[in-house]
Amino acid sequence: MDYPRAGAQYPRSLGEFQAWFRSDADCLDYLEWLRWPEGFICPECAQRGGWRLGDGRFMCAGCGGRSSVTAGTVFDRTRTPLTVWFMACWHFSSGKGGISALSLKRTLEIGSYQTAWAMLHRLRSVLVRPGRDRLSGRVEVDETYIGGVEPGLTGGRAHGRKILTGIAVEVHEPRGFGRCRMQPLSDGSAASLHPFVSANVEPGATVVTDGWQGYRGIEKLGYIHERRSERAARARGDDVGELLPAVHRVASLAKRWLLGTHHGSADDAHLVSYLNEFVFRFNRRTSRSRGMLFYRALEFAVGHDPVRYKSLIANPRPRSVPPRPPPGERRPHPPSLERPPANRPWRTGRPGDSA
Ligand SMILES: [Zn+2]
Repeated sequence: MDYPRAGAQYPRSLGEFQAWFRSDADCLDYLEWLRWPEGFICPECAQRGGWRLGDGRFMCAGCGGRSSVTAGTVFDRTRTPLTVWFMACWHFSSGKGGISALSLKRTLEIGSYQTAWAMLHRLRSVLVRPGRDRLSGRVEVDETYIGGVEPGLTGGRAHGRKILTGIAVEVHEPRGFGRCRMQPLSDGSAASLHPFVSANVEPGATVVTDGWQGYRGIEKLGYIHERRSERAARARGDDVGELLPAVHRVASLAKRWLLGTHHGSADDAHLVSYLNEFVFRFNRRTSRSRGMLFYRALEFAVGHDPVRYKSLIANPRPRSVPPRPPPGERRPHPPSLERPPANRPWRTGRPGDSA
């Protein structure tokens, strides 16, 4: 399902969102559909098939293990109702600039700021998937200081620690930007910059940088290196600040977002997760529906621990005789697959479901 449809697989509007997710059962069913579109797969032994138990959990047909759709995801053992989680995710992903913890607390009437803050950080933590595609084509790379405004300080005295951040942005010809990546760096040396480029840019790409020595030698990592000299730009009378227009644009958007939505409250320790949120949103800025970001964020949220899952299916140890489920709990299919409630369009729109 590469192209989920608005109005069928994700809500188009707040009204649709509210109609779809009226109860925790609706939310659970949606997560289940997102996590196991072809039916239950055991997170322990990776075997397909099982039974839904009376309490809504599943029992694996292979190892007999019990698990729930939220186990091993950011929703695991949460005391916050799923309807509140979904609402938070909707505001997080559907607003143009996301939402601050304080606004979320007020909007959802959540008891504590800490709860709202932790929910947003949990959502941010899932936005980067290991193994995602690296940038390609022409990519501008630069490093800049970001952050450094401490909450509670105002005016000229608001100077916390700024963090050196690597920025890489795809450049389209003749104009326009593609995707970006941002990541805090320990310093501006080749030892920091080279791994940043390797981790974020596909070999074979053209990497455009300024004349900084930390980028010397990246052609040995498989890149075409295009250096733009500040001195030459000055000699031509060009604006040195526009040497790398794409990274400068992305850096200023990120700084403005941190100051705007988050009032500069992003502290050192969490800057990386704010940057992940910025990148997630920037890279989907052309999505026609904001609901699409809601879908992606939840998809990532239930895409639990992919490394662990992969290592399990690489070396499966299924039992020779599947245990039988306890009497009275055996059902051929989860009931939601048989008769989706009217307000669950994601079920009816599924390939193979003739409902
Ligand atoms: Zn199992």
